[in-house]
Amino acid sequence: MAIQILSEQVVSKIAAGEVVERPASVVKELLENSLDAGATTIHVDVVGGGRKRLRISDDGSGIPADEVVLAFARHATSKLQTADDLYRIETLGFRGEALASIAAVSHVTLTTRHEAEDAGTQIRLEGGEIRPPKAIGAPGGTVITIENLFFNTPARLKFLKSEDTEKRQIATFVTRYALAYPHVRFVLVQDGREIFRSSGSGQLADVVVKSLGLDVFRQMVEVADEDPLRDAPGSIKVWGYVSDPALNRKDRSRIILFVNGRSIQDSGLTYAVTQAYHTLLMKGQHPFAVLLISVPPEFVDVNVHPTKAEVRFRDSGAVFVAVQRTVRSAVVALAQTPTLRGSRRHQSLDSNNGWMLPYQPERSAPIQREMDLPLDEPGQFTQHRSMPAPALDDDMTALPEGMGKPKKPRTLPMLRVIGQVGAAYIVAEGPAGLYLIDQHAAHERIMYEQFMEAYEAQGIVTQHTLEAQTIDVSPTEARLLEEKLAALQAVGFVVEPFGMNTFVIRAVPALLADTNPIDAVAGIIQDLEQDKAPGQETVEAKIIRHVCKRASVKAGQILTHAEMQGIIRQLERCQSPLTCPHGRPTMLHISGDQLAREFGRLGAN
Ligand code: ADP
Ligand code: MG
Repeated sequence: MAIQILSEQVVSKIAAGEVVERPASVVKELLENSLDAGATTIHVDVVGGGRKRLRISDDGSGIPADEVVLAFARHATSKLQTADDLYRIETLGFRGEALASIAAVSHVTLTTRHEAEDAGTQIRLEGGEIRPPKAIGAPGGTVITIENLFFNTPARLKFLKSEDTEKRQIATFVTRYALAYPHVRFVLVQDGREIFRSSGSGQLADVVVKSLGLDVFRQMVEVADEDPLRDAPGSIKVWGYVSDPALNRKDRSRIILFVNGRSIQDSGLTYAVTQAYHTLLMKGQHPFAVLLISVPPEFVDVNVHPTKAEVRFRDSGAVFVAVQRTVRSAVVALAQTPTLRGSRRHQSLDSNNGWMLPYQPERSAPIQREMDLPLDEPGQFTQHRSMPAPALDDDMTALPEGMGKPKKPRTLPMLRVIGQVGAAYIVAEGPAGLYLIDQHAAHERIMYEQFMEAYEAQGIVTQHTLEAQTIDVSPTEARLLEEKLAALQAVGFVVEPFGMNTFVIRAVPALLADTNPIDAVAGIIQDLEQDKAPGQETVEAKIIRHVCKRASVKAGQILTHAEMQGIIRQLERCQSPLTCPHGRPTMLHISGDQLAREFGRLGAN
């Protein structure tokens, strides 16, 4: 075939394909236009997943009568004049493509009245062909109706996803914009049924409740960056809501991010959110988050992709850190103040069986100071009274001197050990019911925090091995180990090269005094090899996690009552007592109410 320049009609269909892939993308573009027009109420009415009919009406500025035809021309926009403007875009649209693209592949009717004009205008286009506009009485704002979408692009029609998928995607877009614009009222009607409505109250919390549900919202905490400079020009602001670690999912679909009011997909920032839950969530679990990020417009390039779903930051590292740090401080604060969560229910939506709930203090049973606790009834299991002398118990687990000495604030209510089951779990009682504590996970958490603290204070205690031991490794492992020697040293190992692929171990952290040093180093190499995730976590922290895992009591180990009480006392003062450093829960809590319910005693006397 000879080379020829494509006809205008073909070009417009190709261009349309980039912007309007599917009915949901039409909804997205039209919503953006309404928001750019300053609407305070936007109605979206969809029939047949958007293929049959889509109508979006707003009370925004409207389009002046003499610009209505122009609005449908390709590259016609009122939002941008010079190329320089591209670097300070404050509107959602700017490419001037949406109306032209949509009109090229559908039947469009647009009725609009500009705020400064008395009469409205109506215009109709079929497959991009314009019928002459006519004057018409209309309320201020714009109503645009799209019918028979893709009627002239049969190939596109064939590749469309199912009607249900499209409906869901449309609902996703509408709720996303509702989250980003809490002061705008959104109403979504699908096939005659209202399925979403936001109040336009301006409160993000209201929209989170409407879009994610009250149960989810109850398990979320507000995120606000406390940066005193946050109103300074050029600063990055992050605010919104993120979930308690107990509420999580196996995918990232509930991490919802906006940059300057634009819903975006950004794997880096999504990772920053997950990263903020480090050691609080297991690998493969992801939190819920709704985060509104604002950066100065000149810091972000929105002109990366025709659908504008991706952006590029001038300094992506700074945005990453801002998100990660803000979320982290909210999540850590949450883990430290269980009383604040009194009214919250904790449940993982993925494994919700009602019983297996992590620790959740009841509103009726606030955390008590040790002094305030009532005396226990003497009973056969009660060896320790909850009286003010538990400091003795703090030394029950073999921990090197000088670790974790100063009393830290209590993060759990005082628990009384009842016994051990399956040589793996400690059974304890607290003011809010029954607790089952995974002895290994709990001990790991305690050691991890103490070790990290000692590391940060450069106070790790090292134990020299009786005889220097050598370890042979593969060439790749040898290179890895060489790279990490300094990190190993920082956490208390003394390991030196000893020939090609051989190393000599002269000392280990005192915590590992009782374990085989060769196994310990081999285990660390294996961990470092597997864990290639680029994280904020340092190599030292990874090694420390490994050491703690190795040194902590194992499942299968019978513990004395005093040892159990020692673990519990220390866990009560951990910063994040509810999970082990790998993110697994340390405890399950069964409240007094739950027990009563299970025994059919609720309401009975
Ligand atoms: P863009 O949004 O990138 O400017 P569009 O093709 O989406 O391009 O819209 C073209 C122009 O039509 C806009 O710049 C705006 O001036 C006008 N317009 C479109 N929709 C609306 C609306 N709902 N209210 C007011 N003006 C609108
Ligand atoms: Mg637009």
